Amino acid sequence: MPQEKSFHMTPDEFRRHGHAMVDWIADYHTRIESYPVLSRAKPGEIRASLPAHPPTRGESFDAILGDIEKLIVPGITHWQSPNFFAFFNSNTSGPSILGELLSSGLGVQGMLWATSPACTELETHVLDWLVGMLGLPERFLSTNTGGGVIQDTASSASLCALLAARERATNYASNRRGADGKLVAYTSTQAHSSIEKDVRIAGMGLDNLRLIDVDDDFAMRPDLLERQINADRRAGLTPCFVCATIGTTSSNAIDPLPEIGRICRENKIWFHVDAAMSGTAALCQEFRHTHAGVELADSYTFNPHKWMFTNFDCNCFYVADRKALIQTLSILPEYLRNQATESGAVIDYRDWQVPLGRRFRALKLWFVIRHYGTEGLQHHVRRHVELAQQFASWLKADNRFELAAPVPLNLVCFRHKGGDDVNHGLMDRLNRSGDLYLTHTKLANRTTLRLCVGQTNTEARHVERAWKRIQEEADRVA
Ligand code: PLP
Repeated sequence: MPQEKSFHMTPDEFRRHGHAMVDWIADYHTRIESYPVLSRAKPGEIRASLPAHPPTRGESFDAILGDIEKLIVPGITHWQSPNFFAFFNSNTSGPSILGELLSSGLGVQGMLWATSPACTELETHVLDWLVGMLGLPERFLSTNTGGGVIQDTASSASLCALLAARERATNYASNRRGADGKLVAYTSTQAHSSIEKDVRIAGMGLDNLRLIDVDDDFAMRPDLLERQINADRRAGLTPCFVCATIGTTSSNAIDPLPEIGRICRENKIWFHVDAAMSGTAALCQEFRHTHAGVELADSYTFNPHKWMFTNFDCNCFYVADRKALIQTLSILPEYLRNQATESGAVIDYRDWQVPLGRRFRALKLWFVIRHYGTEGLQHHVRRHVELAQQFASWLKADNRFELAAPVPLNLVCFRHKGGDDVNHGLMDRLNRSGDLYLTHTKLANRTTLRLCVGQTNTEARHVERAWKRIQEEADRVA
């Protein structure tokens, strides 16, 4: 029989190119500090360097790999540089990258337990591990009334929480007839913008999102929350969802969960906790105080893809009562029916998220936890916090600067006393230099610089150099 024509990569070719690709990644990580952290590409520049038309004849993998360095790297902002201090980090690690590779290699789509039992059961197991590792309430365990699931992002997790809250508050009627314009959600003025987006998507209407004011430390004021809930009730509205934050994006503020949780309990309101970056801190006993009150939460989310050495995307989402979530999102067309689902003995994670399909993300999380062990993870988280605290102490001792917010963990918010323009000028000079990358926010209406220590390989020398460069540029700009 003649050989069938094929354009596929053979297993031997895959092995060879795969080794080259892994070598490239290892080399990239070794030389990453030689690149300017923030890409210097101008708008449209990368695209203009690409061929106008796709190739008709396939190209060699060597040619493709060669173009990575030439065409792609100039347009990369090096998130994995130890000099990356911007936003919140999105860190990664060797075991995570290998887990991601294996996930691609297996190519599993785990929408149902039956479509790959290991995909579901490893996820359930690792998420139960994390309940213990972070000291989360036992109600979040799959062996209890709740359970955890991996979502793409915290935005999606919070959306699922909001949808479940909406349904629980209307006895699961909103799914049928649509939201009635009376459901109200609450979060603080400092909450992440994803909550606002989620309220829009959930059809509750932005007019029904209350942004509760914060105290001097940028944490939600529970007295104002309670007052607003009472006012809304008196106006005939239905308060249904409160989102508190552990570690707000702008300043790492920690909302007072115990008081907010109590108010939610008394008012039968779904209490969601967004700990996108700072959730990871709960790995360490000494930072668990940031999570006081989480036992009152109906749901909780944090991102190993921010600060737990697990590459994007990987968000962990927990609910205390999985029935509410499943009843909200479950839908079973004929083509997905199968015996395992019917038996009720398995989890089908398609019922715990917005999309149907899902990747085998638990692999990379499992690899990371097994590689580092809880001891290794705690070590690096502690070190990041220590370095941020050191940086904050240098700032405090320099009378050109001031801290703009408390520093509970690994984010330092500060400003030059010269005013908004000086701070913007300082940030632009630093970022243009390529030596480091940091970003800004507004706190109390004043431009504030943020330095977040959370990249996997950031060490004392990187933070020391950042401080040196900030001092040098401060002299120039002021
Ligand atoms: N919540 C908080 C507190 C965040 O800081 C962020 C992102 O920085 C998010 C939610 C959104 O994260 P994601 O990109 O996973 O949706």
